[in-house]
Amino acid sequence: MDGNIVSAFIGIGSNLGYPSRQVEAAIDRLSELRGSRLLARSSLYRSTPFGGVEQPDFINAAVHLETTLSPHDLLDGLQHVERAHGRERDGQRWGPRVLDLDLLVYGDSRISEPGLEVPHPGIAERNFVLLPLSEIAPDLDIPGLGPLSSIEVNYREPQIERIA
Ligand code: ATP
Ligand code: CA
Ligand code: CA
Repeated sequence: MDGNIVSAFIGIGSNLGYPSRQVEAAIDRLSELRGSRLLARSSLYRSTPFGGVEQPDFINAAVHLETTLSPHDLLDGLQHVERAHGRERDGQRWGPRVLDLDLLVYGDSRISEPGLEVPHPGIAERNFVLLPLSEIAPDLDIPGLGPLSSIEVNYREPQIERIA
């Protein structure tokens, strides 16, 4: 911890084990993450799965934290929460999971390492990331991508609706 306070955005997804409860519980846990404070949370969204794997619909949300954690410590914290929810890290990519926490944006940092890419590379193509993010941070500027508001949202694929 170096004392700098950084603004970070986390994308949340779940499609197993009563997903909306998983997402709500994850938000509670994120609000208790050390060195961090929850500034905002989005509504819940329901989206159909993408990536060709037959599986239940996802519940998605996004949160805004301010944190003194480094990006690596923050990712560790997210993976700790995933494990606390019973996430097993053996399965297929884009397969069903009780909880997925992606570090979407970490201040104005751009990180490209084998285990950590920030901003998260899927942001611009994923309506289930763009919609909750726009709800809590309409003026966000995404490093390397530009204003969130300038990114065109594909509302059709996957299908998505705001539920609560
Ligand atoms: P995607 O990253 O395309 O959304 P996924 O969430 O299903 O796919 P996971 O299996 O959850 O992928 O994670 C695979 C690896 O991605 C993790 O072990 C982690 O080290 C790495 N990773 C790289 N950048 C990030 C990031 N910004 N947030 C979360 N994990 C990341
Ligand atoms: Ca993901
Ligand atoms: Ca992930």
